[in-house]
Amino acid sequence: MIDLHVHSTASDGSFTASALMALARDIGLEAMAITDHDTFEGYDQAKQMAASFDIEIICGIEISARYNSRTVHLLGYFLNGQANAEMRRWILHLQHTRSLRNKVLADKLQKDGFNIALEDLAHKAPHMIGRPHFATAMVKKGYASSIREAFCDYLGEGGRYFVPRFEPSIQEASSMIAKANGIPVLAHPIRITRDATALEYYICDMKEMGVAGIEVYHSEHGRAEVELYKSIAQRFSLSITGGSDFHGEKDPSIALGYGLNRNLFIPKSVLDALRG
Ligand code: AMP
Ligand code: MN
Ligand code: MN
Ligand code: MN
Repeated sequence: MIDLHVHSTASDGSFTASALMALARDIGLEAMAITDHDTFEGYDQAKQMAASFDIEIICGIEISARYNSRTVHLLGYFLNGQANAEMRRWILHLQHTRSLRNKVLADKLQKDGFNIALEDLAHKAPHMIGRPHFATAMVKKGYASSIREAFCDYLGEGGRYFVPRFEPSIQEASSMIAKANGIPVLAHPIRITRDATALEYYICDMKEMGVAGIEVYHSEHGRAEVELYKSIAQRFSLSITGGSDFHGEKDPSIALGYGLNRNLFIPKSVLDALRG
């Protein structure tokens, strides 16, 4: 069994790289890709421990990209071990634009009396503070009753304090990943649309923009979706990937490797096929 979509404390997961490694070993994962948002830090830490845990660790990343004026998530997989220096520089640039957004967002909140300081959010993931960290703080301090409410009322598009951040286009993100010998993969296609015909069109369009694979297996995908995405992948000659999108505490119903209510079991052959 493998899991190719996992978040650590380097982004918005609640498990450190070493806690992830221990858990992966306990459940018998053969390979795990760390796919943090906008950072390789979790992967770098896990990679150093891979030999002692006897688990294959894959270098991955999850990037929010712009498609038709909306945000879609792209996964990048660097199967030969490393994202190159140019890719890492580009990621640093994304981190910088993210931190500019965070400052504006924190200022806006403070001006309106919210006791939320950037420094309080920074202790866990100094390079990747995202809106989930703001949302968690808002729930902890009683400004919102749930993460969902924090996004709906305050932080999400349409929320009172929504501040956009720079997001690269699908073309730019895919080409940066491909230039670094990575495979750009569309994450959790179920979040794009549930209309199969529209999705086919979008995926065909995204393939022309450089997307080379789709995440067929994911905690949010039911059996019917898995079959649909598999057939779309075959029709458009796209690679197939899969993972739980494990975040730990942020979504306790999702288990590493096994997904939501054990709806996942991704065989190692998926990784072998990805390698081609
Ligand atoms: P950021 O990259 O900092 O702008 O935050 C984006 C992240 O916030 C996404 O990857 C999601 O994990 C999370 N997110 C976005 N919208 C929502 C929502 N409505 N409810 C819960 N989490 C959300
Ligand atoms: Mn996340
Ligand atoms: Mn995602
Ligand atoms: Mn994810």
